[in-house]
Amino acid sequence: MSAGPVSIWISNPQVAITLMVLLVVCTILVVGNGVFIVKDKKQIKISMALQDLLQAVNNATTVLLTADDDTFEDAIKQGVDLVASCVDIDRVHIWKNEAADGTLHYANRYEWIGSHIEHEKIVPLKMKYLYSNTPTLAEKLANGECVNGPLSSFPQIEQDALKPFGMKSVLMTPVHFRGHFWGFVSFDDCHQERTFNDGEVDILRSASLMMIAVINRIEQAADIATTAAKLEDASRAKSSFLANMSHEIRTPLNAIIGMTSIGKSAPDLARKDTAFAKVESASSHLLGVINDILDMSKIEAGKFELSLEEFSFEQMLQKVINVSSFRIEEKRQKFTVYIDRAIPKNLIGDDQRIAQVITNLLSNASKFTPEEKSIHLDAHLTSEENGACTLEISVKDTGIGISADQQSRLFSSFEQADNDISRKFGGTGLGLAISKRIVELMGGDIWIESKLGAGAKFVFTIKVQRGSEPAPTLHSDLSRSENPHPDELPSFAGRRLLLAEDIDINQEIMLALLEPTHLDIECAKDGAEALSIFSAEPERFDLVFMDVQMPVLDGLEATRRIRSLDSAHAKSVPIIALTANVFREDIEKCIEAGMNGHIGKPLDLDEVMGDLKLYLLGKP
Ligand code: ADP
Repeated sequence: MSAGPVSIWISNPQVAITLMVLLVVCTILVVGNGVFIVKDKKQIKISMALQDLLQAVNNATTVLLTADDDTFEDAIKQGVDLVASCVDIDRVHIWKNEAADGTLHYANRYEWIGSHIEHEKIVPLKMKYLYSNTPTLAEKLANGECVNGPLSSFPQIEQDALKPFGMKSVLMTPVHFRGHFWGFVSFDDCHQERTFNDGEVDILRSASLMMIAVINRIEQAADIATTAAKLEDASRAKSSFLANMSHEIRTPLNAIIGMTSIGKSAPDLARKDTAFAKVESASSHLLGVINDILDMSKIEAGKFELSLEEFSFEQMLQKVINVSSFRIEEKRQKFTVYIDRAIPKNLIGDDQRIAQVITNLLSNASKFTPEEKSIHLDAHLTSEENGACTLEISVKDTGIGISADQQSRLFSSFEQADNDISRKFGGTGLGLAISKRIVELMGGDIWIESKLGAGAKFVFTIKVQRGSEPAPTLHSDLSRSENPHPDELPSFAGRRLLLAEDIDINQEIMLALLEPTHLDIECAKDGAEALSIFSAEPERFDLVFMDVQMPVLDGLEATRRIRSLDSAHAKSVPIIALTANVFREDIEKCIEAGMNGHIGKPLDLDEVMGDLKLYLLGKP
């Protein structure tokens, strides 16, 4: 604890400044000794000038010590006015050190200019200069030594560097604050060659330290205020995020729980079916909300990234339309699509995120457009340079439209046009904020063209790269493919699947979903059991569905061990992750562990069927 009092002195700016005042007073006493031991008239003159300077610094100290944020600039000016007139100088700068691009600069933090200085000799505020251009001065200042004298006495390199400032002589007083080189104060004489005498140097050095202590105090107070304001904003945003999240999750959950209990007690099948249909719709809404919230959290944490791959633009649009047309058809809306033929067949970009933006716009268009009205999707190539293509994609509807005032807010999180609308149509107010972030990451922009009551057109641009591979076979029309009805599921009779899944209900769902396909399924309750069943007779299995998070041995390790078994079939059998870990890095981990693909939970039957057909029948 012996260091305690010292750290209090140093950490408290008010006390530090009091220390400065004492320093100034001590300087007065030291220099004062010289004042009274006078020998001739010249010395008397110097001593009297020093007395005046001391008095001026003393007065300046009083002015500065009582300054606050608002009066500080005036106080510094008043203080320097007092000091400068005593030593007959033309200009004073306070230079603060700044590191930029790995090199040390000094930046103009404060400037006082005598009335007779020519305008072109004024240094712009915040202007930065490189220390390395004046190496001798830089070394002296960094070592705590003053630079003092006529410019003509400086090394040539320093003379050249300082010439544009227009001074004839200069005193530079370095300030080391709390053990580090803070910067320096320069006192310029632009009219005569001179060397500041020892007394002047001592007093001006103390004055410099005092001024910088005050600047530091004011800057620290401003930093604290900014940090406090930021923390307050962050905490407000977090509370509103949590409140919104809670509301958006509870609403569909309420429907799921309520409809489940209605369905259970419903006396007839028709009412049970209605209740199940509502549970299904609320569940998929809840999944959308959770995905939006996870995306938004990633955006806020600065972890939202794109993954670039080659893809077919038309196939990507086809998938989007498959997903969106269900709702559009339900409302019997007229839906038209135009794709510019100039758009390259294959592009390099993040197709899933592009699809996410278009799906969101189409879903909104359908949601906010009355039945039987029309919706149009348009995709154009607006420019191409060295393979970098700019696409402009728009979704236009003939729905309720958005007023100019509402338009400005819609791209912020949780913003909806108005509360009545959100109550009527539901939604999180996150979709457009996420879409904006996605298109910005793709070097584009998103905007609205709309009037209240006159429909809305959402337009966005993105930059993607022309793909290099030959175009895959494309569907000539953008027809919709529907989820297969269970009766239409393909038959995989005679084929055997190993399902590693530790949660009973998930096993049950998978077995029930795949029952109509006649696939022979063997279940393992964790990775270790899967490994042991598989290694007993690898050739028995045509495919492995592997959960990732499982007790005893997780899916990643189980896959690695299967791949390292001494069997050619173990090296080639398709292993697909079936997991609720759906972030890009999770998918990458699965592939690194030796898996062939990834299906996210909750399961999409289409996706499961797609992989079964691909890996068991060899066709997409
Ligand atoms: P959500 O639709 O989940 O509320 P979004 O961010 O996608 O969230 O949309 C925010 C709001 O923008 C919507 O609630 C709605 O008020 C308005 N909006 C979006 N698209 C349209 C549209 N096509 N027509 C009218 N209003 C729209």
